[in-house]
Amino acid sequence: FLASDDSRYVSGHNLVVDGGFTIVNNGSCMLEGKVALITGGSSGIGESTARLFAKHGAKVVIADIQDEPGHSVCKDLNTESASFVHCDVTQEKDVENAVSTAVSKHGKLDIMFNNAGILETPKPNILDNDKAEFEKVIGVNIVGAFLGTKHAARVMIPARRGSIISTASVCGTIGGVATHAYTSSKHGVIGLMRNTAVELGQHGIRVNCVSPYVVWTPLARNLLKLNDDEEEKRVYSNLKDAVLKAEDIAEAVLFLGSDESKYVSGLNLIVDGGFTIVNPGFCMFPQELNL
Ligand code: NAD
Repeated sequence: FLASDDSRYVSGHNLVVDGGFTIVNNGSCMLEGKVALITGGSSGIGESTARLFAKHGAKVVIADIQDEPGHSVCKDLNTESASFVHCDVTQEKDVENAVSTAVSKHGKLDIMFNNAGILETPKPNILDNDKAEFEKVIGVNIVGAFLGTKHAARVMIPARRGSIISTASVCGTIGGVATHAYTSSKHGVIGLMRNTAVELGQHGIRVNCVSPYVVWTPLARNLLKLNDDEEEKRVYSNLKDAVLKAEDIAEAVLFLGSDESKYVSGLNLIVDGGFTIVNPGFCMFPQELNL
């Protein structure tokens, strides 16, 4: 066409043959070029975050004890952008190895998401709670977050940048919502975040938490033993007509991991539709409560 006389009035142009590729905005890529390690990424909130991070251009390494689902998430995301490493977050060697794997594969670590967590079967009173079970929850939820923060800091300090995010919970702010061990562990995760934010800020590293309300992942389903129909209706929500999904938590983590939050550190970002700021038992606006 350009060589022929059919284009005799065409000059000085770049004929782009791309099916419209260059005129479409494929969405903002908030994590282009970033490398993220996500513990507990084989399921629930971690899996949603891995998917959203990959969509935003990040290289994602999933670290979990559930190998098969972890590999299958990575397969879905494609092997270029996602990979799996077996890691029990209670084992320092595993966490050290997961961080080192991310660095040796991609040359750096920009975002550490300490998200792996467990919740034990509730017991009616403290006298029925046993020490081994208490320690198990503390081991995964808080020692895991500690080891993730420590080993991420090991590689982020020399780089003088990075974002460390841990999953706490509304149970890290108020009491009476979950078991003693779980509530203690999530308060601890927020304390660890605040202390390390103070120290690591000196190295340009931001440290934050995301605190979800109930999200229907396997963790919450096992606890509340509700079937799909009952679920959304039975759980109290302050925010009418909105149902919290794992994807909503992933969006909050995306913000904390991205440069859009470059001056945010030491924050516990509570994603609960206002649950923790209202006492439904004593409220001036009873008609407004979605009970
Ligand atoms: P989930 O059960 O879907 O996912 C948890 C993941 O952690 C699983 O893939 C599991 O294999 C992994 N994991 C467990 N122990 C591990 C270990 N020792 N080492 C490595 N990985 C391990 O549950 P979820 O709801 O997605 O939980 C993610 C985080 O969110 C947890 O920290 C949880 O406490 C927190 N959280 C969940 C809710 C909720 O309602 N679902 C609310 C507040 C906070």
